[in-house]
Amino acid sequence: MTNIFKGVKEAVSTRDAASFYGIKVSRNGMCQCPFHNDRHPSMKVDNRFHCFGCGADGDVINFVQQMFGLSPLDATKKLIADFNLPIDIKAPYKPDDKAKKPNTEQEELRAFQLYKRDALNYLHEYYYILHCAKRDYAPHTPEELENCNPLFEEALHNLDMIDVMIEELENTTLNEQLDFMNTYKEVIARVKNRVNELNNTRD
Ligand SMILES: [Zn+2]
Repeated sequence: MTNIFKGVKEAVSTRDAASFYGIKVSRNGMCQCPFHNDRHPSMKVDNRFHCFGCGADGDVINFVQQMFGLSPLDATKKLIADFNLPIDIKAPYKPDDKAKKPNTEQEELRAFQLYKRDALNYLHEYYYILHCAKRDYAPHTPEELENCNPLFEEALHNLDMIDVMIEELENTTLNEQLDFMNTYKEVIARVKNRVNELNNTRD
């Protein structure tokens, strides 16, 4: 039984879980702590979580336990269900056994969901960067327009498209999302590269 805990912890990071359960996590992994009255993000989530305000600390299972008031086993079961993890809670968990054949429908679905979450994270981040650029670098005179910050132009070109993409991904049926992902795979890859590039130049 202890192995299913390990399997879940390997499959889902606290950061994934926090976003999944509706907590807004910033680019650097900070969020408002759900375990104390946190006005400014003082919790760091990655594989585990740690709150610099109240000292809450633990792994993804502890996180779900505390959020929903569950036992460790129930929190683990919840994660398996919510993330469609290919872990059978009745059978002993053997990572090397059949896990290498990733062709069951559930695993494909799970892979898709992970891919989608990742894509959405990047789209949201890119949207935010462009939104700020459009606001902060808006030219006020024709001369400024001539020499405006390239990010401002990038924002004008891409902001609406990114907005539509986020909307499509968040508010359509699974089949539509699968279609969408196939069509926009390359655009999403470019967005990821661009966000990483922008982050590298800014940090
Ligand atoms: Zn806290």
